[in-house]
Parts: sequence; C-alpha cells; structure tokens
Amino acid sequence: MTRILDPPTFSDSPFFFDRRQLAQPQREVHHVQPHSNPVVAYYHPKGVGNYHYGERHPMRPQRLELTNQLVLGYGLDKAMTMHNPRRATDEELANFHDSDYIAFLKRVTPKSAQSLTEEEQKYNVGDDCPVFFDVFAFCQQYTGASLAAARKLTSGSADIAINWSGGLHHAKKGEASGFCYVNDIVLAILELLRYHARILYIDIDIHHGDGVQEAFYSSNRVLTVSFHKYSADFFPGTGNLSEIGSDLGKYFSLNVPLQDGIDDESYISLFKAVMEPTINTFRPSSIVLQCGADSLGCDRIGSFNLSIAAHGECVRFIKSFNLPLLVLGGGGYRQSSVARCWAYETGVLAGVTLPDDVPDNQYYEFYGPDYKLHPPLTGQIQNLNSKQSLENIRVVIREKLRYLNGAPSVQMQEIPPDLYGFLQSEDRSTEETKEEMGAQGLEIRD
Ligand SMILES: [Zn+2]
Repeated sequence: MTRILDPPTFSDSPFFFDRRQLAQPQREVHHVQPHSNPVVAYYHPKGVGNYHYGERHPMRPQRLELTNQLVLGYGLDKAMTMHNPRRATDEELANFHDSDYIAFLKRVTPKSAQSLTEEEQKYNVGDDCPVFFDVFAFCQQYTGASLAAARKLTSGSADIAINWSGGLHHAKKGEASGFCYVNDIVLAILELLRYHARILYIDIDIHHGDGVQEAFYSSNRVLTVSFHKYSADFFPGTGNLSEIGSDLGKYFSLNVPLQDGIDDESYISLFKAVMEPTINTFRPSSIVLQCGADSLGCDRIGSFNLSIAAHGECVRFIKSFNLPLLVLGGGGYRQSSVARCWAYETGVLAGVTLPDDVPDNQYYEFYGPDYKLHPPLTGQIQNLNSKQSLENIRVVIREKLRYLNGAPSVQMQEIPPDLYGFLQSEDRSTEETKEEMGAQGLEIRD
C-alpha cells in the first residue's frame, strides 16, 4: 500500500476551529505516548448483569457479571482505574434518539406492553427486543457507562476506556432492533465529536454494525468499518461491499462481508490488511472498537471459527496505533466464551499477560471442564470463505480507500443542524470532577 501524502483533513476547515472556540476553551487531546503504558479506565455499572431478557432469550446480561468477576479474579483492577458510572439521563439519550421513543421505553412495562400492540410495532419491541422488567434502567446503565468512558477520553485523563456492557450497535433512532434498545455507540461517538475531528468506528461483532453505520451514513467525520457475516437470511441482512455511505459521507462507510467458518489466519490477515491503510488514510483522532464476541467459534448464534486469541489480536493491533481508544462489548451468546474473551482483551489493553488457568472467582463453575482462559473454540464449522473471495474483498476495499483519500476538504455542514445546540451545551466540569473521584476509588453512585 502506498503511503498517502498529506490528504486534506477535516480539521483544515476553518469552521471546525470556529466551532471549538464557541464551545469552550480548546483542550489538549493527549495522545498515548508510544513507549509508555497507556492509562486505562474501566467502566462497569454496578448491577448491569442483573437484568433478564427472558428465559428463552439468547441475550444474557449475566455475562457482564461473569466478565467483571473474571477481570477482578485476574487482578486487572490493579492495572486500571475502575469506575461505576451514573446512568444516562433522558436528555443524553435524546441526543440521538427520538424523544417519543425514549418516553415509550421509560414508561413501558412487561404488563402494559401486552395492550400496546400498535406501539410495540412502531418501536419494534416484542420477540427480539422484549419489554422486560426495568429495561429502561438497563439502557441508562450501559449507555451511561459508554458516555462516561467517552468523556474520560475527551478530558485526556485516560488513553483507553473500556465498557463491556456497551456496544449495542443495532438500535435505531426511533426503534429497537436486534436485542438493542438504545445505541450507546452513536451517543458515545457524538460525545467524542465534540473534541475530536475524525472518529473511526470498527465493529468485529458477527453481525453488521447497521445502527452505527446508518447514524453516520452521510457524515465524513465518522468512518465506520464493519466485519461481519453477510447473507440475505442472516440478521440484519445489510453490510454488503456496495454500502459505502452517501452525500458527504460517500466512501466513509466500509463493509467487509464474510461467510461462515472464517478462521483465525484469514480473519486476522484481512483485518490488518483493511485496517492499516484505513487508519493511515483517514487519520482518525480517536477510535471506537466494538468487540462483539459472537464472532468466536462455538457461539450459540454466530457461525465463525475464531479463537479468543485471534479476536484479541484485532484489539492488540488497533491498540498499537496509540490513539485514544474506546472499547465496547456487543453480541456474544455463550457466556463463558464472552467473559473469557473480554477478560483476555482487558489484559491486552492494560498490558497484562494473563495465566491460562482461570482464577478462583464467583462463577468458576462456568469455566469447566478445562478451566482455561483459551479453550478450543475453533474448527467446528467449515470455512466457506475462499482465498479468492477474501482477496477480492481486500482489493475492493483498497480501491475504496483511494476514493476516500480524494474526498474534498470537509465542511461542517454534514453535522445535522439539531446537533449544533448539543455541541455547544453545558459545562461538564463538575461531572468530570466526580468521575475523577471515581478514578481514585471513591464510590460515585449506582
Ligand atoms: Zn452480534
């Protein structure tokens, strides 16, 4: 790949600097020093694993407790600052979502939902996205964590922020979708856009990151890249190579459609071959990485063949670019695999090598019969991705990146008008002070 010579950037736009002056005094965005240990902030909203989608539903928030206990069992809390963030407010959720949809989520209960057929249809709640007890509080918790993590990065007091309870990439502006109700990723990216010129969003969940792509489809300040299984009968049915963005956002959406059974070697080599030129061309000022664990082998819904080590290698590779990094969870339907994967990736991000023996913890019995961090998960499904098809994807993506490099200098008009007020809104210094207190181990609140 030819290294691109100084392409036009978004921050070249005079309007960009004007906007920053309007908001508040410009802050330094601290980039990670390549040879120092990054400061890592970890967000786990207390009790976020106690919600229940329903007996037969594959999404189990309990996996978040398993993850957290494994992280603690490995002693990773000593390598990071630990935070129990506050819930997101209605106003924060309304920065992306329609207020009538938020009001609905807030008032609906499992009982009232039974008589709300019309609204159930309008907001797409029901089978995939059931109305369960305290569903709104669940959304406020995981979203509050992603927002606090994003604020931590923009304040410059952490280089990497992790929220495994976030990453619900399917939720739309006005409706639920694919087990997701509120799109914490879109909201966190909007928060980052207050101070960052360009955000790169990367999605390694087995499903297409459609909600995030859609939200920023016409923006050239957010480049979305999704690696996923693509077929007409696999949810959500989008994410073809030909989906590239529109208007100012043309060429700022990239999709890597894959088939069943992709193995470690093919995935890692394609991931690196796509991401390295993408980062060098787009030159993001921060990166958001959605780490859905349903792309692992032996998932209950997914059908890839990835090991935890390979999934984690993608995280390690993105970390190596030393840019402010927000790391989020996502899908993952085998609880023991999800917890292993995200604990391992927490170790990768914190620069700590974890022993393969699972440490004693509250959920130890989940890790049998081997009780290892890296159980065999691969080789169960036939790899339907031919060398030729993967090479074809690689060539097409590189061709698209050439167009991206030729994109005209960016104006601010791509930000929807209703975001201007948001971008100039409240002074958050009190809140950030509280979050700093949280970083010192002081309990903020549930
Ligand atoms: Zn998924």
